[in-house]
Amino acid sequence: MLKTFTILCCFIITASTYSQTDEAILKKLYQTSLTNGKSYDWLNHLSNQIGSRLSGSLGAERAVAYTKEELEKLGLDKVWLQPVMVPKWVRGATEYAYIETTPGKTNTVNICALGGSVATPSLGIKAHIIEVKTFEELASLGQENIAGKIVFYNRPMQADLIYTHEAYGGAVNQRYNGAVEASKYGAIGVIVRSMNLRLDDLPHTGSMTYDNLPIEKRIPAAAISTNDAEVLSTMLQLDKNIKLYFKQNCKQLADVQSYNVIGEITGSQFPNEYMVVGGHLDSWDLGDGSHDDGAGVVQSMDVLRLFKEAGIKPKHSIRVVLFMNEENGLRGGKKYAEEAKQKNENHLFALESDSGGFTPRGFSFDCNDANFNQVLSWQPLFKPYLIHYFEKGKSGADIDPLKTDKIVLAGLRPDSQRYFDYHHASNDTFDAINKRELELGAATMASLVYLFDKYGFK
Ligand SMILES: [Zn+2]
Repeated sequence: MLKTFTILCCFIITASTYSQTDEAILKKLYQTSLTNGKSYDWLNHLSNQIGSRLSGSLGAERAVAYTKEELEKLGLDKVWLQPVMVPKWVRGATEYAYIETTPGKTNTVNICALGGSVATPSLGIKAHIIEVKTFEELASLGQENIAGKIVFYNRPMQADLIYTHEAYGGAVNQRYNGAVEASKYGAIGVIVRSMNLRLDDLPHTGSMTYDNLPIEKRIPAAAISTNDAEVLSTMLQLDKNIKLYFKQNCKQLADVQSYNVIGEITGSQFPNEYMVVGGHLDSWDLGDGSHDDGAGVVQSMDVLRLFKEAGIKPKHSIRVVLFMNEENGLRGGKKYAEEAKQKNENHLFALESDSGGFTPRGFSFDCNDANFNQVLSWQPLFKPYLIHYFEKGKSGADIDPLKTDKIVLAGLRPDSQRYFDYHHASNDTFDAINKRELELGAATMASLVYLFDKYGFK
């Protein structure tokens, strides 16, 4: 008897977490996205008509105007721009580098300046090279082996990690902190193996820091393609007296005015309680930022449009926020959270898509157990769409500043196997986007937003 009672209870708890209406609504959201989605068209325009959108660039400015205009066409309750000052770093003329085996005998290699790096002197720099895999190795070599040389960081991303962002996390300190560390020992430049799991000829840029280093200690930093990193390493094993030459012309200019782009469907029951869905509008300058993060931008825009198309009138206010300057400053994300706090806006939920426009697998959640368990109870609803990944973890860089004890932060988790083939490189372009995968992502995001809006927060 007791056993029956327990089973009955469990049944009731499970059954009450969603209804047949929800199954129908999710079906409608996926159907609409796949047959009448707008995300692909929007991304086509962003990528092919506007192109790269580095903070402070003309492309970024045009992307602000374009997305605002497109959101205005959707019949939302409000669309506005939130001003934010952003850093402006420019690459200048294309970088050039070669390995010199003996005077006059050279092999060119593919490099690109890291975002935020200083230029080399106008004639470039040429020096002996010290290859290291870790900062510990660098420290053990010390000043006597490093001063006057170029430090070459060559620790590959770990290939046997299935979630490739973890491999990125394990290697990216070379790119981000490499210059600061090498400068301590008198290095005159750094070259970093690209954050890329495959071997190819494309250098991948990305942000780096000088921390509080005085200007005279700031040394130029560049990424080298994985193929050329292998070549350089092999040549160094044969002859440690070879030299590397590189020249780059990048520059940090004064901050400029830019904007986050925001659209809102005002909630029917709780207009002062906010749910955010977003991605970042800026991109690196080498490709056109189709995956990083044009995909997240258009998917987020489409969440609000899919709500409209499906006739869903949300109870909470749903905002799409297109954040500016995630890549080299996070100013947009910080600004949005700062203003939300100033205005005492009650944010209950934020979802970011910033892992590429690949086949969605699920979400990563940064929230309390009660909300997470609620999500787990919705799992069967996602099964028909092959969405199975529901784990606790990080959400997204732009929404992280909104973090409080009660907010639910989530990140869309697409399949990550191909992401680093494109990430921050010149091949992150529209042709690398699969229309259906992009649309499935938008519908998956809309479904989660719909469920939280309907069932509320714990
Ligand atoms: Zn990104």
